[in-house]
Amino acid sequence: MSYVDEVLAKVKTKNASEPEFLQAVEEVLNSLRPVIDANEELYRKEAVLERITEPDRQFMFRVPWVDDKGQVQVNRGFRVQFNNSIGPYKGGLRLHPSVNLGIIKFLGFEQIFKNSLTSLPIGGGKGGSDFDPKGKSDREVMAFCQSFMTELCKYIGADTDVPAGDIGTGAREIGYMFGQYKKIRSVYEGVLTGKGLSYGGSLVRTEATGYGLLYLTKEMLKCNAKDIAGKTIAVSGAGNVAIYAIQKAQQMGAKPVTCSDSTGWIYDSEGIDVALLKEIKEVKRARLTEYAAARPSAEYHEGKGVWSVKCDVALPCATQNELDLEDAKQLVANGCIAVAEGANMPTTLEATKYLQENGVLFAPGKAANAGGVATSALEMSQNSERLSWSFEEVDSKLESIMVNIFHNLDDAAKRYNVAGDYVAGANIAGFEKVVEAMLAQGVC
Ligand code: NDP
Repeated sequence: MSYVDEVLAKVKTKNASEPEFLQAVEEVLNSLRPVIDANEELYRKEAVLERITEPDRQFMFRVPWVDDKGQVQVNRGFRVQFNNSIGPYKGGLRLHPSVNLGIIKFLGFEQIFKNSLTSLPIGGGKGGSDFDPKGKSDREVMAFCQSFMTELCKYIGADTDVPAGDIGTGAREIGYMFGQYKKIRSVYEGVLTGKGLSYGGSLVRTEATGYGLLYLTKEMLKCNAKDIAGKTIAVSGAGNVAIYAIQKAQQMGAKPVTCSDSTGWIYDSEGIDVALLKEIKEVKRARLTEYAAARPSAEYHEGKGVWSVKCDVALPCATQNELDLEDAKQLVANGCIAVAEGANMPTTLEATKYLQENGVLFAPGKAANAGGVATSALEMSQNSERLSWSFEEVDSKLESIMVNIFHNLDDAAKRYNVAGDYVAGANIAGFEKVVEAMLAQGVC
C-alpha cells in the first residue's frame, strides 16, 4: 500500500465522525501524490503525513452567557491549533449553528496550506462556536463574545495564535472580543485581526478576500489568454467575500449578475447594485427579498439556484459544499470557462473533478481566497511596527501577493507534470514549504 493510502486509512479510522475533515484530507493528500511518491522513504520515516494531519492541540470549552430575558444560554467554543511550523497559528473564528469540531478541523487543516501559499510567516489554526449571531441583540452578541474570549484568551497571543473573522464574525464581534482580551490580559497587542481602524485594524482588510479573489482570477485568465473584462459572473453569497468580489469584478469591467443568502438568490440582468446590497446586508442585516423589492431588473428565487444562470466565470463565496456535481454539469453546459473559490471548500470533490475534466480553469479556495489572511498578516506587521499603511500601499501589496500565489501554484503544477491542475499546484506549493520547516525543526 502506498504511504498516502496508508495514512488516509488511518485518518479515516481515527476521525470517522468528521466528514468535512476527511474530505479535506482526502483532497489534499490525493493531490500531493506526485511529491509524496518522489520522497516516500523520507516522509514515511519522519511520519510527515501523520504529523501534518494531527493538530498540535485543540480546545473545546463551555461558553455561558445571559440573553435579554435573563435566561442563561450555553454554547460550545472551539480553537484548533493545527500547525505552527512557519509562524504563529492564524485563522478565523466561525460563529454559525452548524459549527462542530470536524468543520473547525477541516478549516484549520486547509489554513496550513493557504497561509503557507501567501509566503508570509503564519501557521494554520481555526476556531469558532455554534452560537448564531443572527436575530440576537447587540447586547446578547457582546455577552457571548465576552464569555467566549474569557476562555479563549488563555490560549492565544500576538506571537502565539492570532484569530480573525469568518462566517458570523465581523467587525462588531472582533471589537467585543478584543475589548475583553485587553481587559483580562492587560496588554494592548495585535492578538486579533480584522480590527476596527481606530484600534489597530488595517485598511483593505474588509475588502481583502473579495478583492484578492478577483486579482487571482484575473491573473489565471490572463495566463490562459483570456480577459476578465466583459465577462458575465455568477457569485454566490451576500456576505463579506461576495460583496467585495462583486465590487472588484465591476471595477475590472466584468458583470456580476447574481448573489445569494441562506434562504434564496438574486438574478439581476443589469448587474448587481453593490451599494444596495451593502445597505441590505451590512447595515440592515436583512434578507435578499429587499433587494428584489428595490430593483426592477432583479428576480428573487427561493432556495438554491445561482449556478443555473448562464455565466463565463463562477465565484462560489458562501459556504462549504454549495456547488455539487449537478451544478458543475450545468455550468459546463452553459459555457462557463473558470471557477474560483471565494469560500472555503465550496465545491464538492466530484464537482471539482468534473469541472477540471471538462477544461474549466479551477482555482481552489486555499489560493483564491488567501487575500483575507494575507492582509491579516499585513495587519500583524503594522501592529508590530505600530504604524498604519495607506489603502494604496496595502492594496498593491495584496495584489502582488495574489499574483505571486497564482504563479507559485502554476509553477508547482508544471514541476510535477500536472500543468493546469491548480488544485494540485496549490497543495504542492503550500505543502513543500511547511514540510521543509517541519523537517528542519526535528521531531516536535
Ligand atoms: P459572511 O457571514 O459575511 O457571509 C456568508 C454568506 O454566505 C451569507 O450571505 C450567508 O447567508 C451565506 N451562507 C452562509 N451559510 C450558508 C449556507 N449554509 N447555505 C447558503 N448560504 C449560506 O461570511 P464571509 O463572506 O466572511 O465568508 C464566506 C466564505 O468565505 C466562508 O466559507 C469563509 O470561510 C470564507 N472565507 C472568508 C474570509 C474572510 O476574510 N471573510 C477569508 C477566507 C475565506 P446569510 O446572509 O443568510 O447569512
